[in-house]
Amino acid sequence: MSKVKKKIKSIKIDVDKCNGCRACEMICSAFHANPKYSSNNPERSRIRLIREPLKDVYLPIYAGEYAKAECMGRDKYVIDGKEYGECSFCRASCPSRDAFKEPDSGLPLKCDMCEDLPPGEKPLCVQRCLNDALIYEEREEEVEEEVKLEDVETGLESMVDKYGLQKIMDTVARMSMSKKG
Ligand code: SF4
Ligand code: SF4
Repeated sequence: MSKVKKKIKSIKIDVDKCNGCRACEMICSAFHANPKYSSNNPERSRIRLIREPLKDVYLPIYAGEYAKAECMGRDKYVIDGKEYGECSFCRASCPSRDAFKEPDSGLPLKCDMCEDLPPGEKPLCVQRCLNDALIYEEREEEVEEEVKLEDVETGLESMVDKYGLQKIMDTVARMSMSKKG
């Protein structure tokens, strides 16, 4: 498979600069509302703030992958004398907590780096953080070329044309059974 250049987007979090204002949660939930900007409910945000003012803990966390089951073992971190709770740094939408779940449907939420924004524009949470706690970075990396879905569809279409839909479906069913078994 050939190599292609891919843009890797990341957001560096400077926890010491976060003051817990929650502007990032507000803008993210408003941008992802349907229609856009029709509401702002932090429960729908893809960035959530772990906020414990008495311990001076303000920790922005981005929603990552969906996890079907909760972890059996958990860790606690102490950094600069501050103790962070179990799961604090975890990005998963998992059954053990309410974070990163769409409140009405319960479906998992995941940060999409504001992919609907025009090219070149920084993610909205970064733009809205006036304390520079969220720093946007981009770099290019060489990765294996992904097979595009359109290519798969085109390939399947041509096989259906050649062998007929039923034969393709029977073959896929047989292949998936042999993979499982
Ligand atoms: S907008 Fe910035 S300072 Fe405010 S809660 Fe989010 S990360 Fe922290
Ligand atoms: S990058 Fe966009 S989608 Fe991700 S948390 Fe920030 S505002 Fe939300």
